[in-house]
Amino acid sequence: MARELYTARLEKKVLISESAQCYHFEFVLDGLENFPFVSGQFISAVAPDATGKQQTRAYSIASAAKENRFDLCVNRVEGGFFSNYLADLTDLPVGGTIQIHGPHGHFVLKEPVTDAILIATGTGIAPMRGFAQWLFPESGPDRSNGKDIWLVYGTRYETEIYYHDEFLALAERHPNFHYLCTLSRAQDSWTGLRGYVQEHVAKIVEERAARLGLPQIQPEVDPAIPKAELNFDIYAYICGLNNMVAGVRDKLAGYGWHRKQIVFERYD
Ligand SMILES: Cc1cc2nc3c(=O)[nH]c(=O)nc-3n(C[C@H](O)[C@H](O)[C@H](O)COP(=O)(O)OP(=O)(O)OC[C@H]3O[C@@H](n4cnc5c(N)ncnc54)[C@H](O)[C@@H]3O)c2cc1C
Repeated sequence: MARELYTARLEKKVLISESAQCYHFEFVLDGLENFPFVSGQFISAVAPDATGKQQTRAYSIASAAKENRFDLCVNRVEGGFFSNYLADLTDLPVGGTIQIHGPHGHFVLKEPVTDAILIATGTGIAPMRGFAQWLFPESGPDRSNGKDIWLVYGTRYETEIYYHDEFLALAERHPNFHYLCTLSRAQDSWTGLRGYVQEHVAKIVEERAARLGLPQIQPEVDPAIPKAELNFDIYAYICGLNNMVAGVRDKLAGYGWHRKQIVFERYD
C-alpha cells in the first residue's frame, strides 16, 4: 500500500555543533493543521538522489507534538546522501521542502510514567528531547508524575553536546529531572562527568537500589507472567549507534534487568 506523503517545509536550521556538523531543523507541514505523533517516534524522509532514485531515511523527531510542526537533529555523515541533503536545505526566506511519511516506530515512553533512565549518544539525543518536552511541557501540566527521570547523554567533546542549555534549564526547573552529560574525550578544563554512558547508568541503578532498599541484582521475573502483563517500576530507553546500545543492554542485563524493561532505537 502506498504511504501518504506530506510536504515538510524547513523554517529554521541551526548549526548546533560546528565540529560535529550537527544541525537542528524545524519543519512545518503547511498542508496539515496537526501532525500527531507520540514523543520518540520517527519520520521517514524521502528525496531523489543525483540519479533520480528515491532515497528514504529514518529520522527521530526531536520535539514533542505541536500543531503541524516537528524538529529534527541530524549530523552530516561523510559520503552520506540524506544527512548532507538535509544539511544543505535552505531555511527561510526560501524554506526548502522534503517529502516525509509517518510517524512510525515504537520507541515511546511507557504509560503511566515510571522512573526512567534515558540514555543517548550523539544525535540519539533527538527522541530524548521529544520525551523531555512531553514530560515537562513549557505550558500545561507536568506529565512526569513526580517520577525520577535521568538523562545520561554521552558524546566525545564539549563542542558536541547538543541542546545542553535546554537540558540544564530543565534540570534547574524540575528537581526530578536529572541531567548527566558525560564526555569520553574531554579536555582538561571540563569539570563535568567523564567516561562512557554505561558507567553512569550503572551508578544510577546501584544508587537507586540502595536508596530504595532493593537488591543490587534484580530477582528473576516469574516466566509464567504473560509478557503483556509485565510492569516494571523503572525502564531504560536507549538511542544511538548499535555498539553503545548493546553495551548498555549488557550492563543492565548484568543487574538482572528484564528484556522488556529496556526499550531501544538503533540508528545503524
Ligand atoms: C529509526 C532511526 C532513526 C534515526 N534518527 C536519526 C536522527 O535523529 N539523526 C541522525 O542524524 N540520524 C538518524 N538516523 C540515521 C539516518 O537514518 C541515516 O542513516 C543517516 O543520516 C545517514 O544517512 P545518509 O544518507 O547521509 O548516509 P548513507 O548514504 O546512508 O550512508 C553513507 C555511509 O555512511 C555510513 N553511515 C550511515 N549512518 C551513519 C552514522 N550515523 N554515522 C556514521 N556512519 C554512518 C553508512 O554505513 C555508509 O557507509 C536514524 C536511523 C534510524 C534507523
